[in-house]
Amino acid sequence: MTNEPDIALEEIFSEKQIETRIQELVNEIVSRFHGQELTVAGLLKGSFVFLADMIRHFHRRDLRVLVDFMTVSSYGTETESSGKITLTRDLTMDIAGKHVLLVDDILDTGRTMELTVRHLSGYKPASIATCVLLDKPSRRAVPFKADFTGFEIPDQFVVGYGLDYAHRYREFPNICKIVFTNRTHEKKMVSGND
Ligand code: 5GP
Ligand code: MG
Repeated sequence: MTNEPDIALEEIFSEKQIETRIQELVNEIVSRFHGQELTVAGLLKGSFVFLADMIRHFHRRDLRVLVDFMTVSSYGTETESSGKITLTRDLTMDIAGKHVLLVDDILDTGRTMELTVRHLSGYKPASIATCVLLDKPSRRAVPFKADFTGFEIPDQFVVGYGLDYAHRYREFPNICKIVFTNRTHEKKMVSGND
């Protein structure tokens, strides 16, 4: 059910599937960073649910973490994001010499992650690794591959588990694709980048 006419939601990953995949991702990350302190940098707003689940698994696996957030915005035109990306909120912690895990909800054109990694590199961390829950490889506009990826998906607009459509559906425990039954609604989906 949705609050908006002309769109329908279809589940693509259940709560259980997400949970299982996150445990696998956490295993990979913990084996890479075992014995070190990891600075987890989340991109707001979309990554907050994913990040919150991951860090509690890190704790259960004895991986110590520091957590910080940043915001990157892009300004979209009608049907495509413009590709102009601005950092609107930087980290507040000093990451010099730290092992950083940059976390986002979804990798689309790759511009957000590419820019953010370049920006964070300027702070001279010991290392930067990247982790995304979802990846749409067919949409890539700049070459970018995350070190840790939850699920690859086709070119479709998804919501839930932190991801929104016009600020809605972030609270869903599962991930759904949006089926547009009226094409004018598609314009809204590129107007935000969070
Ligand atoms: P990129 O810079 O890789 O094109 O864009 C990444 C950002 O676009 C993500 O952080 C997310 O905010 C937004 N995005 C891309 N695809 C989707 C999608 O299918 N659903 C939602 N809710 N956001 C998306
Ligand atoms: Mg985002």
